Amino acid sequence: MNTLFNLDLLVRENVKALKPYSSARDEYVSSGEQMVFLDANENPFENGLNRYPDPHQRNLKQLISKVKQVEACQILVGNGSDEVLDLIFRAFCEPGKDNIITLPPTYGMYKVLSGINNIENREVLLTDKFQPNVDEILAATDENTKLLFLCTPNNPTGNSFDFEAIERLLFEFPGLVVVDEAYIDFATNGSWSFRLNDFPNLIVTQTLSKAFAMAGIRLGLCFASEEIIAVLKKIKPPYNVNELTQQKAFEALENYETVKEQVQTLLKERKRLSEAIATIPYIETIYDSDANFILIKVDDANKRYNQLLEKGIVIRNRSTQPLCENTLRLTVGTIEENDKLISTLKAL
Ligand code: PMP
Repeated sequence: MNTLFNLDLLVRENVKALKPYSSARDEYVSSGEQMVFLDANENPFENGLNRYPDPHQRNLKQLISKVKQVEACQILVGNGSDEVLDLIFRAFCEPGKDNIITLPPTYGMYKVLSGINNIENREVLLTDKFQPNVDEILAATDENTKLLFLCTPNNPTGNSFDFEAIERLLFEFPGLVVVDEAYIDFATNGSWSFRLNDFPNLIVTQTLSKAFAMAGIRLGLCFASEEIIAVLKKIKPPYNVNELTQQKAFEALENYETVKEQVQTLLKERKRLSEAIATIPYIETIYDSDANFILIKVDDANKRYNQLLEKGIVIRNRSTQPLCENTLRLTVGTIEENDKLISTLKAL
């Protein structure tokens, strides 16, 4: 048990006092009764989208609950996981006072969100094996430390964090531990969402943008204790997930078997891509990946990036991130796209 953790002490004072926005029809929508809804100033002419979407996303959450094996009351959905991350900042961090801990090199949005929300971002570098430095993280905390972001598999390095390190942080970190699992479907290890009942300070985020091939609809998932979800629900915009997104996400989750097949194809392609570029002389390192991308270290990242651009291939230059000098991040594409990337890299 994490004896330092106390949810009440972490919630922002104004959020604690907040009464969330509610709509007049909330309690009737799920009753199944035929009602006449003249409460929300909608246009009555039916076109399938003239009504506001369900602010509680009940149907969608029921299906997420079944697919992801998390109770519906432990789920929040957002306009991409970026919105979920922003809600977490705004629910728990007092601007100008609190701090968070991030572990560079990692996903850039944590830092951006800390800037937007005026929260100090304490950076504790990953080790040279791209693993969390648990002692240093714990040493960087104080009474105003609210959040720790663990991105696993980590973007841009591609590796998963060690189980023992994450577990120790869940036991000893005084604030909330946000485990960002955007790439979990490509990883060999399972999700931390199965441990929600063991760790009251755990928040897991996932997304339909990667394995589910649904980046365009913007659907992010958040799994946490019912108490944490209740806090986030208080501040979420009522209609943050639109009707079309709810419908498309429902269809994508119903087709989970297809998603799994596509993931298998991408994993095979990831292996093929790493093997095919392994002998290219200017590529110094190909890092192991648990995600749908590969980080490579080259002789001169700017030069190679521009050469690929000239050939019509856009990748990501991650060289400005700490520990990532001269690195490039390659997303695994279709077989044809990967063929083009491989032959172009070989010809440079
Ligand atoms: N977390 C990580 C680690 C990511 O790489 C990304 C997207 N690149 C996100 C979150 C955001 O995902 P979404 O599309 O759900 O906002």
